[in-house]
Amino acid sequence: MANILVAGCGHGGVVAAWKLAAAGHAVTVYEKALRGALGHEAQDAFDAASMQYAGIEIPAHYWAENNRLTFIPLDADAPALTMPKVEPSKTLKADRRELIAYLISLAEAAGARFEFGCEITAPIVLGNRIAGFVTADGRQVVGDLVIDACGVHSPLRAQLPGFTMIEREPGPYAVLHAYRAYFRRDTQTRQPATPYNVYLTDDGTVGLSWVVTGETDVDILVARFGAVEAADLLHVMREFHARNPHLTMQQIRGGRTADIPVRQPLAMLVADGYAAVGDAAFMTHALKGSGIAYSLMAGTILAESVLADTSGFYTTETLWEYERRFFREIGFDACRIAIMKNLLPYIKAQEVSDLFRRGLLNSEEVAAFSGIKITKLIALANDKLRMLGEFPAFRTKLRNLIVWLGRFAVLEPSFPNKYTPEDAAKWTERYNEFFDSIRYRPQEDAPPAAQEQ
Ligand SMILES: Cc1cc2nc3c(=O)[nH]c(=O)nc-3n(C[C@H](O)[C@H](O)[C@H](O)COP(=O)(O)OP(=O)(O)OC[C@H]3O[C@@H](n4cnc5c(N)ncnc54)[C@H](O)[C@@H]3O)c2cc1C
Repeated sequence: MANILVAGCGHGGVVAAWKLAAAGHAVTVYEKALRGALGHEAQDAFDAASMQYAGIEIPAHYWAENNRLTFIPLDADAPALTMPKVEPSKTLKADRRELIAYLISLAEAAGARFEFGCEITAPIVLGNRIAGFVTADGRQVVGDLVIDACGVHSPLRAQLPGFTMIEREPGPYAVLHAYRAYFRRDTQTRQPATPYNVYLTDDGTVGLSWVVTGETDVDILVARFGAVEAADLLHVMREFHARNPHLTMQQIRGGRTADIPVRQPLAMLVADGYAAVGDAAFMTHALKGSGIAYSLMAGTILAESVLADTSGFYTTETLWEYERRFFREIGFDACRIAIMKNLLPYIKAQEVSDLFRRGLLNSEEVAAFSGIKITKLIALANDKLRMLGEFPAFRTKLRNLIVWLGRFAVLEPSFPNKYTPEDAAKWTERYNEFFDSIRYRPQEDAPPAAQEQ
């Protein structure tokens, strides 16, 4: 029986805690928030398949219709674009406080212990091993394995020694600061034509905003790469209100800002005695910021890989099975999405509005772009290139996306199925170099690959 420490109540960490405790390990989860204050005051959507993958019974009231996004362009005379209807529904929608409480109840029933109100401040490193962590009340907690589920700003990941090769910080344009609040819906006035509206009124460098109309409330999200300033928020809310009279200024719940990683996953998820999961390892869908599904699946893979290590050493080598399965089952697809997201900061709201007006993008094509089948994507992008003669700037950007996806297809096979320090180091270097080479650079108007052709 191993002594397993889970840092933070991230979803993947709690799922791993549940499965490892159920298998007889001594598992303790250390969480800085108090039990009643966990999660967000919001409802979020995620893929039902992830709960099934994790073997979690789905509460009947979680089932929801598939979201059908409508993109509202900058110019009022350009048509909005509503995504095609997808049936049957594979979407769950859960109250975030209820969801995390449900996962915790499973873990507790299996024997995992939880310490709430306990802030972790730094890792404890002994030789080349992550042996535990220090807490804000001065305790030194040591164990056989540390599972880092502390979210995007994990203090553990941020202070890991360089020899682990684990990136400490998310980097520029990799985190969206998202304000989220629910307002009362006025049903006596003009109602929107579609319920789930994403406003493309800002250039990609700024962020995005949505207005989602529920039965009795209106869900507002304003996400920015820079800080969400009060003046900006007020401006956006006024604009939303002018276009959506059913949005009252009467706030019902929420009103906090939280961070969402929108980038590729870490190249290295593991070190001796350490594994990162969920937002701590940047496991989100980079175009949508959805991370619940990936976290539930990754937590399951992690637990299974830990259980497969019968030596109980939990070294980089034995934890590599988690890394390998994560990339094969989730990570490479997540990378392709992150590559597409990388194009967004270069795209101007006016450009998108013009494309919509000229009918050069339809909803099936936009849906296909957020899919992950590489051959389909490249064929679609090539097809679009032929039609974009009068949009040379956008054409160049799209051509660069094809080049990036092609370069990644060359990089992918260099992922080592079996761990050796040399191969893992080579993989990490090449992966990080690739994403750094395509990273958005504010001073350049065109993506970097343009200069390489
Ligand atoms: C506004 C918003 C909307 C979103 N919408 C969706 C959506 O629709 N669908 C979806 O799938 N995802 C959505 N996400 C993303 C989703 O919240 C995350 O990807 C998901 O929760 C996975 O993150 P996690 O569980 O690993 O970490 P988190 O949910 O961030 O949990 C980390 C935990 O660690 C704790 N912690 C942090 N630091 C410490 C410390 N020092 N010591 C101890 N404990 C610590 C935190 O208190 C927290 O409980 C949204 C996020 C935001 C902010």
